Amino acid sequence: MNDRPSVLVVEDNPTEQKLVKLLLDRYGFNCVVASSGMQSLELAEHGNRVDLILMDWQMEDMNGLECTRRMREVQQRTGLFIPIVAVTARAMLGDKQKCLSAGMDDYLSKPYTPSQFEETVNRWARQTAMRTG
Ligand code: MN
Repeated sequence: MNDRPSVLVVEDNPTEQKLVKLLLDRYGFNCVVASSGMQSLELAEHGNRVDLILMDWQMEDMNGLECTRRMREVQQRTGLFIPIVAVTARAMLGDKQKCLSAGMDDYLSKPYTPSQFEETVNRWARQTAMRTG
């Protein structure tokens, strides 16, 4: 149980939180939820180490781009460079580029299939878990 990779889910929508939690559990990941951008920054600085951060595009207190920028500052301080994958409902062309230039590592566009979700989370989280032991 404890050797499962952990994913920090930054998401302000309770329904979305439950869905992502279910999927992570199904595919063998621990799930830590941050319900706001501020809470996620707090957890990044003082919480347990995670292997991947799934970042909502739009939240009440700050958007995913702003949160990612601040998250990278925290990571700079802690020296833990955890991948950040944006999760967004927008299927707009150009969003991926926006995500990447904001310092995100990848992009998961809603609606996604369970296997798309698994593929993306696996690719990033397991890689981090292997690298950092
Ligand atoms: Mn949201």
